Amino acid sequence: MSNKFTVTFLGTSSAPPQVERRQSSVSIQYRNHNLLVDVGEATQVQLLKHKIGLSNLTILLTHLHSDHTLGLIGLLTTRSFYSISKAITIIGPPWTSSFIFLQLLAYRLYPEYDIKVIETTGGVVLSNSDFYIESFPVSHGEDCLGYKIITHKPLGVFNVERVLEKNIPKGEKWKKLQEGYPVEIENKTIFPSEILDRSSKEQIKIVITGDTPLDDNVINNSANADLLIHDSTYPMMEIERAKKHKHSTCTDAAFVAKRANVRRLILTHFSELHKNLTESLSNAKEIFPNCIIAHDGLVIEV
Ligand SMILES: [Zn+2]
Ligand SMILES: [Zn+2]
Repeated sequence: MSNKFTVTFLGTSSAPPQVERRQSSVSIQYRNHNLLVDVGEATQVQLLKHKIGLSNLTILLTHLHSDHTLGLIGLLTTRSFYSISKAITIIGPPWTSSFIFLQLLAYRLYPEYDIKVIETTGGVVLSNSDFYIESFPVSHGEDCLGYKIITHKPLGVFNVERVLEKNIPKGEKWKKLQEGYPVEIENKTIFPSEILDRSSKEQIKIVITGDTPLDDNVINNSANADLLIHDSTYPMMEIERAKKHKHSTCTDAAFVAKRANVRRLILTHFSELHKNLTESLSNAKEIFPNCIIAHDGLVIEV
């Protein structure tokens, strides 16, 4: 089983159409988990192109602006055409449930699979055996979210020799220690760190901001991430426009990456005003060198 996430950029444009870029959508795959962050207009075609199936998807919506959601109802419809019976989970900000079900009603669509909607304003929204997902608010407008995807903390390897040395009786106490809890032995507390070897497996953290201006909350939530995918709607000189529309410039994103001490930064969500991306990349790299520009079809491993 791979210990790496595969991140595929399906759409890297802001709202107005562009010939070379589709609207926002990013696929994040890990083992048998298949996350889709935002579903812009052409997402279904991009999923086909990259051979990403619809049956096992979990959808995360950063917000409900049309450039992040126009492909959603189409995708749900195609699931019905393919007779996919597996339930789908859709996570998003408040109003997501009404947003989806009113559209289904308007289109007279009645999927036979269950649609589970989780509305969130921040906190853990999903946890499985491999990782958990936490949302956090960003200040793009009302109810906009970023997401953190973090693999579980490795508990380490149980060192039986050390357990026997300390006379810890087999059974419940062993189990507790293995699960990471301290236990009492003869009025002494034994901590898991005393009997667990350090695991070589590191935690992996991926942060995706969705649309956001320069935001302290993004910096705090991105701390030490392995990968930060950040709004970069405008070039460096358009700082006033970025503030007005609550988006970021390429250098805002680089500043966040530097302050948050992330490993790698990917810039995305480019407006049609953002033409000279080579220049923007070098502007961003002056602040944060480990930075790349996303394009539709970019695949990276974390
Ligand atoms: Zn957008
Ligand atoms: Zn937006």
